[in-house]
Amino acid sequence: MRVLILGGTTEASELARLLADDGRFAATLSLAGRTVAPRPQPLPTRIGGFGGTAGLEAWLRDHAVDAVIDATHPYADQISRNVVAACAALALPLASIRRAAWQREDGDRWIEVDSSEAAAEALGAIAVRVFLSLGRLELTAFAAAPQHHYIARTIDPPGDILLPPDISFISDRGPFDAVKEHDFLVQERIAFVVSKNSGGTATYPKIAAARRLGIPVVMIARPDKPHGVALESAAAAVRWLEDQLAHAPPSTSRRSV
Ligand code: NAP
Repeated sequence: MRVLILGGTTEASELARLLADDGRFAATLSLAGRTVAPRPQPLPTRIGGFGGTAGLEAWLRDHAVDAVIDATHPYADQISRNVVAACAALALPLASIRRAAWQREDGDRWIEVDSSEAAAEALGAIAVRVFLSLGRLELTAFAAAPQHHYIARTIDPPGDILLPPDISFISDRGPFDAVKEHDFLVQERIAFVVSKNSGGTATYPKIAAARRLGIPVVMIARPDKPHGVALESAAAAVRWLEDQLAHAPPSTSRRSV
């Protein structure tokens, strides 16, 4: 069975590992190409946009895909809109791994906002030290609040984009360590953390550290992300694919071997 995995997440990489040596499935992992040097993957990988819904539809048809798993990040809503539309047009089975959001706990001082622009505003007029735990493309919004000192942690250098004047960078990618996150917030005298509610464990230590230190977290709300059959994990995606295989019409299963 030919499978397309839309990736760029821990869950997609885990699914790639689970399917790599499984002869029942011929899977391709798709990455947007945002990260300059993505981690090596155990599956054939294609990189770059498809060219909207029409491009994705054409790719699925040209590669005779039988089933699609959307394992993209909770904030990647455009690709999910595209894949829901493309799979509907082709009557292709689609399942989506939906990572649960972090829930507020006792001691959390979250300020919930709708966008990076609103996050910049929520930092207030007085200059403070801010930890931006965001993608590099989301940093531009903070140019509208130039009074603050920002420390941004991104996987790649920011490149040629509009940035606030007082910003320094740390290049790193998760998973992150609880003790290091705590020490970092203390040493850098961080007054606000700005984060997305990404869910999962890899980037949660900064949220727990902020709670322990009483530091407010400006939390950018999740977008409305359309989905197919909702799944919780990579393992659940394998079970769903097995189910598709069991119920696939004969021509589909023939094509897979
Ligand atoms: P997005 O806004 O939903 O998508 C923008 C465009 O990027 C899509 O229309 C598509 O281009 C292309 N694209 C996105 N994901 C793709 C994929 N897996 N394979 C091929 N093309 C893809 O997405 P985004 O928020 O920029 O995120 C891009 C990637 O980074 C995703 O793979 C996501 O899982 C990962 N990621 C995102 C975040 C985040 O906070 N947004 C965090 C961690 C990882 P075309 O229309 O040309 O097909």
